[in-house]
Amino acid sequence: MKGRFAPSPSGRVHLGNLFSMLLAWLDARSVGGRVLLRMEDLDPERCRESYAHQLADDLRWLGLDWDEGYGIGGPAGPYRQSQRSAQYETVLGTLAERGLLYPCWCTRAERMAAGAPHPDEKRRGHACPCRSFSEAKRREMTAVRPPLWRCAVPDQIVSFTDGHYGLQSANLACDIGDPILRRSDGVFAYQLAVTADDGAMGVTRVVRGRDLLPSTPLQIWLLRQIGRPVPAYFHVPLLTMPDGRRLSKRERDLDMSALQSSYGTPQQLLGLLGWLADLLPKPEPVTLAELLNLFSWSRVPKTDVIMDKEWVDKITKRR
Ligand code: GLU
Repeated sequence: MKGRFAPSPSGRVHLGNLFSMLLAWLDARSVGGRVLLRMEDLDPERCRESYAHQLADDLRWLGLDWDEGYGIGGPAGPYRQSQRSAQYETVLGTLAERGLLYPCWCTRAERMAAGAPHPDEKRRGHACPCRSFSEAKRREMTAVRPPLWRCAVPDQIVSFTDGHYGLQSANLACDIGDPILRRSDGVFAYQLAVTADDGAMGVTRVVRGRDLLPSTPLQIWLLRQIGRPVPAYFHVPLLTMPDGRRLSKRERDLDMSALQSSYGTPQQLLGLLGWLADLLPKPEPVTLAELLNLFSWSRVPKTDVIMDKEWVDKITKRR
């Protein structure tokens, strides 16, 4: 039994990231499982080593420990996606051998492909005209500019039972479309890397924000294509700003520096997180061991949690 933290070091960690990671930790530890920390730092424009370092410090401050991964090493390393190109090449090779990979010259969605999709973002891959290009046409296009690489998904329904949200299903072709697996500049895309890594690192439980629920059927299908076992998935509600907007690292919404100024100790911040997860009746200081005793998936809310405006203003002012 192995859970994971898979943050993107593209800014200081915020309350929403901590909420998901606390639940991932509680889920794993409550059944005596291991936890790994993998840095999803594929996007060279957004991710920085200093953020990764800070993120690990922030997790340690809160007491959310891990048994293998970033900063520790372990049997499935390296644990920074930016250092795993050789592994991704191999997985792409497997997909290519199965005739599932094709070059594409439609670049509109390309810039975003290295990061995980946001819920408010229309990022459907699609079966583009490039999928049916002849070899001659492909050579002609490659001479003009390098392609990005997509995976040809079948017209097939994939169903699974999410540990928190229950039965889910999606038609890969209609609801998801052909995902980008590699950008034209060579950067590997989120959907490829997350699947390759969850498979290679032996992850058996994935706990993460529900913004990734729509990507899960695709990831399950990709895992099957590359012959890796499929983990159990548990998605958790998102925390939103008072106006309903999802917390953003770039906007520095409720980030760890603001939280630490208002909540001086890990126990105080854990109290807030435990209360947001409906494990506590009010936000009072608590230890991780106490939260572990209180944890049960049946208590965790399913609807997104909207942060109170007065509270947000107070926290933000103290930053
Ligand atoms: N790296 C992704 C993010 O920070 C999470 C990916 C995942 O949990 O599958 O949004």
